[in-house]
Amino acid sequence: MKLSAFGQKFTADAGITSLMDDLGNALASGDDMIMMGGGNPGQIPEVQERLQAILAQISQDADATRRMVGIYDPPQGEKQFIAALVDLLNDEYGWGLTPANIALTNGSQAAFFMLFNMFAGDYGNGQHKHVLLPLAPEYIGYADAGIAPDLFRAVRPEISFTGPHEFKYRVDFDALEVRADTGAICVSRPTNPTGNVITDDEMSRLEALARSHDVPLIVDGAYGTPFPSLLFVDAEPRWNEQIILCLSLSKLGMPAARTGIVIAAEPVIKALSGINAIMNLATGSFGAMLAEPLVRSGEILPMSRELVCPFYRAKMERAVNVFTEAMGEDCRWYIHKPEGAMFLWLWFPDLPVSSLELYQRLKARGVLVVSGHYFFPGLAEDGWRHRHECLRVTYSQDDDRVAEGLRRIADEVRAIWLEHPSVSA
Ligand code: PLP
Repeated sequence: MKLSAFGQKFTADAGITSLMDDLGNALASGDDMIMMGGGNPGQIPEVQERLQAILAQISQDADATRRMVGIYDPPQGEKQFIAALVDLLNDEYGWGLTPANIALTNGSQAAFFMLFNMFAGDYGNGQHKHVLLPLAPEYIGYADAGIAPDLFRAVRPEISFTGPHEFKYRVDFDALEVRADTGAICVSRPTNPTGNVITDDEMSRLEALARSHDVPLIVDGAYGTPFPSLLFVDAEPRWNEQIILCLSLSKLGMPAARTGIVIAAEPVIKALSGINAIMNLATGSFGAMLAEPLVRSGEILPMSRELVCPFYRAKMERAVNVFTEAMGEDCRWYIHKPEGAMFLWLWFPDLPVSSLELYQRLKARGVLVVSGHYFFPGLAEDGWRHRHECLRVTYSQDDDRVAEGLRRIADEVRAIWLEHPSVSA
């Protein structure tokens, strides 16, 4: 098979493809694997019941059923959902949105593909621009989304210690450089993989930098505010024309409905809708129609804050307690301050094996996690050991299984230290 540059790039071994294959194979092997690798949301019974009730209503209404499955929406997305969202966000935050500020996409992943390639890559005048990721580690799903090579440039974080076994990454503004070839700045908030929440102050400084260089600040709120609110610290929901805010219905409990939401200045939405028409003709109506009553009534906000957030917070607290007890004090270990999302980011300084080897050893013990080295898209290989010392562990699934998985991780790490007595823990 002969392939174009595009064909070659997108069939080459992408980090996310091999990761998804590995997760899929582990699942299909039939082994009793403890799955702490993926980003699948947990099942929250109250949310599921509410969605079931809305579906039942739609199925009883011939006109609504026809709208859900029988007509193409405009490429910008389902109009009633967009109108309801405009009203909700204006009432709640006074953002002054109109329907021309919102587009829907088939999952927010698709939005990132379109946005990154809109703002970065080949500008046709000899200039090649990049997306600046101010805080590595960042979401692995960005890594291979560029049509052009080398689409990302990332910056190492500052590390501050916030407890005996806890640390937090912060944006290193001294090292952060917005250049003439920066096409956009992008952060996930909360961050996948670390559970970090970039502070309001960091956000203001990033926004000011974006404004002064006339580039958009893309904020990935897949776990964030105003919904689904997998947030355990305060974080101000923020939008203005400098910001492209990307939201998603996935982590609310609807990943299969593939609904991403982009809130941006009118020209961005117009461009995005045009690309969406070419790539997809229309965006699926299913998620938008299912969530529309929740948005129209405003219910999506208390549902996020009072159901979804406490569900994940309780899981996070249990996971931290189990891991703290299992690790004890014999060797060095840290958890990134878990401020949101559904992951613990574990750091084992000076561990005698790499995170990839630790991942393989854990897989052999029936626990599937993700090696942290995948999460540094755009950061040049610079001998920074830290990037090979971390694991991402998902705690969204069954608590007992998560606890067992965490105990096996602790056992394995301690076993590695015992095998290497000459290296000091
Ligand atoms: N952004 C982040 C940080 C994610 O973790 C994910 C999925 O896990 C996405 C975006 C994409 O989500 P979706 O395409 O389901 O909206």
